[in-house]
Amino acid sequence: MNYEVIEKRRRDLEGKVAIITGGASGIGAATAKLFVQNGAKVIVADIQDERGESLCKTLGEYDDAVRVSYVHCDVSSEADVKNVVDTAMSKYGKLDIMYCNAGVLGGLDLTIQSCDVGLLKRVMEVNVYGAFLGAKHAARVMIPAKTGVILFTASTATVVAGEGPHAYTASKHAVYGLMRNLNVELGPHGIRVNCVSPGAVLTPLLNNSLKIGNGVTEKILNVAMSKGGVSLLDPEEVARAAVFLSSDGAMSVSGLNFIVDKGGNTGKTNMSFSSGLKDL
Ligand code: NAD
Repeated sequence: MNYEVIEKRRRDLEGKVAIITGGASGIGAATAKLFVQNGAKVIVADIQDERGESLCKTLGEYDDAVRVSYVHCDVSSEADVKNVVDTAMSKYGKLDIMYCNAGVLGGLDLTIQSCDVGLLKRVMEVNVYGAFLGAKHAARVMIPAKTGVILFTASTATVVAGEGPHAYTASKHAVYGLMRNLNVELGPHGIRVNCVSPGAVLTPLLNNSLKIGNGVTEKILNVAMSKGGVSLLDPEEVARAAVFLSSDGAMSVSGLNFIVDKGGNTGKTNMSFSSGLKDL
């Protein structure tokens, strides 16, 4: 498919203002690019300042610098999350889309005995508290506006047991539960709340946890995933789902756990990721 042609024709987020947490890398960075191409004004919020600034510079060259900017934001800090939402309000006067995407995998704790409590806490702080704080401060400005979209990156670990490490899986179930509850509370205020739940995507989140180089990771993961009949995703494939869920085209879609995995997990309730890796 020629995506560039589609990009020239469609600008599904024209005039929207978005914050993307974890926007400096991987799925977040791919989404920042597509959001800008679709006409949104984007604030990339992350803790990787150099990477975030550099991405914004590149995207600014694509369009114009006013459309995309970087704000340092550790999503586990309420002051930081409050600040990035306030920045969107003071810069653009509104916030249409809060994409709570920042996340960490933590350790590859394939057994409960190997769970490190320190890592467990950090996974919860970033993946769960981060999502919670993002939603809390987005709702603060979206409720008076009577409109908005809150989107979380969860994972297929919410629907397939054994797909990720224990702490990570638990954290993504928490995000899924938070999304469903928020949908009940915020729906009457005109705010849509959804999860996008990818299967395995080749990003630094996987590469860094496996502590091996990019090419090798891809080969290993392809073998591991093929054992479960699943293929790796490109970050842009997830970003496309994020654009759809954030756009007015999804105006009646809320409370959804939107699985993006090329159909690989359809019908499965227990899966392969950990077991596939163990078999290598
Ligand atoms: P990534 O490592 O490329 O991106 C994650 C980003 O989050 C990084 O830029 C990182 O700096 C940022 N981040 C980490 N801690 C943060 C914090 N405390 N505050 C702000 N930013 C922080 O990985 P990715 O794969 O693009 O991950 C994005 C999301 O997708 C995560 O929520 C992850 O759990 C989820 N996800 C990833 C996969 C996968 O296979 N890669 C699969 C399903 C879900």
